[in-house]
Amino acid sequence: MKNKFLVLGACLILSSMACSKSDSPATAVHETDASDDFQYAGERFGDYQVLRYQFKEWDKLTLKQKQLVYYLVQSGLAGRDIMYAQNYKHNLEIRKGLESIYKNYKGDRKAPEWIKFHNYLKEIWMNSGIHESKSTDKFMPEFTRANLEAFMKDSQVALSAEILDIIFNADKDAKKVNLDSALGLIKASAVNFYDPSITEKEVEDFYAKIQKKDDPTPISYGLNSRLLKDASGNLYEETYKVGGLYSKSLEQVVYWLKKAQAIAENESQAKTIGLLIEYFQTGDLKTWDEFNLAWINSTEGDIDFIHGFVEVYNDPLGYRGSYETIVQVKDFGLSDKMKVLADNAKWFEDNSPTMKEHKREKIQGVSYKVVNVAGLSGDASPTPPIGVNLPNSEWMRAKHGSKAVSLGNLITAYDKSASGSSLKEFAYTDQEAELIKKYGSVAGDMTTAMHEVIGHASGQINPGVPSTNETLKNYASTLEEGRADLVGLYYIADPQLIKWGLIENEDVAKAEYISYIQNGLMKQLRRIKPGKNVEEAHMRNRQMVSAWVYEKGKAENVIEKKVKDGKTYFVINDFAKLRTLFGQLLREVQRITSEGDYNAARDLIENYGVKVDPTLHAEVLARYKALDLAVHKGFINPDFNVKTNKQGDIEAIDIVYPKDFTEQMLSYSERYSFENP
Ligand code: ZN
Repeated sequence: MKNKFLVLGACLILSSMACSKSDSPATAVHETDASDDFQYAGERFGDYQVLRYQFKEWDKLTLKQKQLVYYLVQSGLAGRDIMYAQNYKHNLEIRKGLESIYKNYKGDRKAPEWIKFHNYLKEIWMNSGIHESKSTDKFMPEFTRANLEAFMKDSQVALSAEILDIIFNADKDAKKVNLDSALGLIKASAVNFYDPSITEKEVEDFYAKIQKKDDPTPISYGLNSRLLKDASGNLYEETYKVGGLYSKSLEQVVYWLKKAQAIAENESQAKTIGLLIEYFQTGDLKTWDEFNLAWINSTEGDIDFIHGFVEVYNDPLGYRGSYETIVQVKDFGLSDKMKVLADNAKWFEDNSPTMKEHKREKIQGVSYKVVNVAGLSGDASPTPPIGVNLPNSEWMRAKHGSKAVSLGNLITAYDKSASGSSLKEFAYTDQEAELIKKYGSVAGDMTTAMHEVIGHASGQINPGVPSTNETLKNYASTLEEGRADLVGLYYIADPQLIKWGLIENEDVAKAEYISYIQNGLMKQLRRIKPGKNVEEAHMRNRQMVSAWVYEKGKAENVIEKKVKDGKTYFVINDFAKLRTLFGQLLREVQRITSEGDYNAARDLIENYGVKVDPTLHAEVLARYKALDLAVHKGFINPDFNVKTNKQGDIEAIDIVYPKDFTEQMLSYSERYSFENP
């Protein structure tokens, strides 16, 4: 499962060349930026912002590791077309037709209608098809059918009448995933997972018949196939595998995976990749489970990956997985810091402002991994999650656990690119904005790490008191998130962190406090519709913490509400006192947790975390609207320059950062297109 929303301090995470049998290097790409002034934000069009992410630690990898990353990324990209085909059966025909027009057009490329055409094509690339990936609604072009026919004529590219109808008729296949059962979950969904004549009932009956009764370890039925109906009305699965559906792409996927397997970092990783190869070759879902089990246990290497038909959000019935790949490398710098936290977990517990009887005797830091992404494909590209916790199979998670990762360099890219205008808008002084710009990212990383590694692992429940989901009920998870946030907030300002070398100076904590209060009291209200209260657990906890310290510090003016030019700001006057207040609240939240004090939990959250001041809410919404921020964001991937010697052996691989979204998409379509429309 994945989380696409950026939530600071959130609990886990709450984003070949056509030559088939050679190692031909990827086309040479050019721009490499100095890491400190890396350009995170690319072009903006319509509701979209193009972003770039940086892989800073590339040169900490050995050549063999670089090769492994490169092969895994190639394997992922080789299946790129599958996602288009899965999303909608005409997507590839439309994409290829429009790309062909784009490349061959000889007319004026500055004309407004042509720019609209280009934007429409970019929107298709952003969503791997003609439906917007979050709302799943079909988007409509801003140019006319006559415009497109003129472009077709000029570029001598023909599109069928059917395709033109799909593009311009708003009612035709308007929704990719329809969840309104009155309209028919399959019938009204354009996603290419079922023969449209099949009903939900038929699907249920089909799987009820083949599922083993009372199987404690069921396979993920239907995960890797399309469900069709034969001439006599019987249902059958067309499996995604070598020799089956999407065979041409999967042959390439396997070709690169074999190269990866041969240079794996260790035996367990090689075995894991081997099982994935076998799964793509056979389509056997038992092998998929074996692969996942091996993958959970393969934790030794620096390099890891998510690869296959994974998330089922695109299937209105929740069976079928969308193709995706995320290639990830351990964050070496942060992992070292994480180890300092885990090794000193007892120190944190002993020095916490909580009451002695609520402290744990023995404490072990929780394992939590931050990784950096080196490549994305399919459902994870161009719009990736920021954290992933897999596998999805429930019995496997219960029995064997799961791997949770936070995708560090993507979060940084989101942070850095978003910081510009909204940062200025909600900062009272330039100095505040500068602090956040300079330290916001490291402060966020460290606070989140303490939230995860120390916060959730700390404290103990009094003897005889049941677990919090029994005592605190619907307030349990909000309070638990509050507790973990408060551990992070309290310790980010502890001088010991500077002594350990985890943070540079006191300004890091200041940046964190300013961001947290701005967000908790104002900025997060942008996600709530007018007239609504705060509902989501993490948002409630952040408002609760911020509103509580604001109120308790009022007499001493710790946080001051100021209004300038009709705009509201919350300004921190006394950082040391604010830290004391965080400590007091941590002590109280731990007491409530340890004692299972339901009434106190309810009062704390209902009084501070739920209600929204309608005037302030309206102001926040208006200020965000005026910023005109992009609604959707998507990434350009890094690319690789591969240098080979005369014998064809790889001598070096450099990572490079292309700047042009269109260029990358056209290049991908040339290098990694193996499916016929
Ligand atoms: Zn948490």
